[in-house]
Amino acid sequence: MKAAGEEQLEQYLKENFEWFHRHPELSYEEWGTTAKIRTLLTEAGIEILPCPLDTGLVAVVHGSKGIQSGREGTIALRCDIDALPVVEETALPYRSETVGKMHACGHDFHIMAGIGAAVLLGKRRGMFAGTVKFIFQPGEEESHGALKILETDVMDDVGQIWGFHADPTNEVGVVGIREGYVAAAVDRFVIRVRGVGCHGAHPDDGVDPILVSAAVIQALQSIVSRNVNAFHPALVSVTRLQAGTTWNVIPPEAEMEGTVRTMNREDRVLFERRIREIAERTAAAYGAEAETVWTPGPPAVYNDGRMAGLCGEVAEECGMITVPEESSLGGDDFSYYEDRDTVGRELPGCYVKIGVGVGKQIHHPAFCVEESAILPAAQYLAALLERALL
Ligand SMILES: [Zn+2]
Ligand SMILES: [Zn+2]
Repeated sequence: MKAAGEEQLEQYLKENFEWFHRHPELSYEEWGTTAKIRTLLTEAGIEILPCPLDTGLVAVVHGSKGIQSGREGTIALRCDIDALPVVEETALPYRSETVGKMHACGHDFHIMAGIGAAVLLGKRRGMFAGTVKFIFQPGEEESHGALKILETDVMDDVGQIWGFHADPTNEVGVVGIREGYVAAAVDRFVIRVRGVGCHGAHPDDGVDPILVSAAVIQALQSIVSRNVNAFHPALVSVTRLQAGTTWNVIPPEAEMEGTVRTMNREDRVLFERRIREIAERTAAAYGAEAETVWTPGPPAVYNDGRMAGLCGEVAEECGMITVPEESSLGGDDFSYYEDRDTVGRELPGCYVKIGVGVGKQIHHPAFCVEESAILPAAQYLAALLERALL
């Protein structure tokens, strides 16, 4: 049985979740989303920090039980707020009102679970000492939104970063928790192969960049099987290959693009070196040239052991079922908050997966969050943040 106040809160969370679901906005265009979050938090008496962000915002709840300041007494919860360029295929009465944009990653759920946790903590200020910052972050789907937050000074006094994601592989009431690496580093590469164009019937007059590309693509797959430690999760996928304009001309150039996913820091360096070597030397063997452009993305997400332990304890206290969090070679720019190279210090973090009902995977056009997941998620996050400050 829910208490009257709980029912009211649940209603509020569901109604506003539906609003966000109906009004998805893409990365760095979250103007209406940001305005709505600001309104809801302000109405709930939650303070919003002045912060030079175009989209996204940072709210804060101070405990009044005693004094706890600095990094010891300041923690943050990251909630990402952007949607995806996906045409929604659900039959929800509150489906997206913008064709081609959809909250297909559940960030609308993240927004309302975060607001709910802020509201609950706001009512319990007298029960804890310290400060909780709620980071409503733009641009997660573009992999670099966290850097916008880190460019401000808002994280400077934060001693712990917490994060979560909607999980459609688990029922409502289930939390996935794991210590160690839970999401991969996400790097991107482009290889341009330059040969010599010629007539399709006279390949001996040119250097065929398509044949070279085929050899490069085959050889790239040897990095995982022959260069990476067999106990390290890693993969490389070539996801785009473009060359030529017609059937009887060998083109002068080909271009391919892809992604590398790794969990270990040293493997990122290894991949960048081996991809360059394979592309350049394979091309040279065929009389062509290759150039590689490597674009590093967010590092792997690492869950601090002590924080992961607390996630489990609080989940049990909240009556939730805990399961081992599934590791994935997907990525999340949450890792930037924890990354020594980005923030200049170690910042312990923990990122859990909250069950939203079993259904289609995130980013699928029929992905959907069960609304009954929002209140328990808000309650769980509020309890977790409060305990983290004790
Ligand atoms: Zn996503
Ligand atoms: Zn997401």
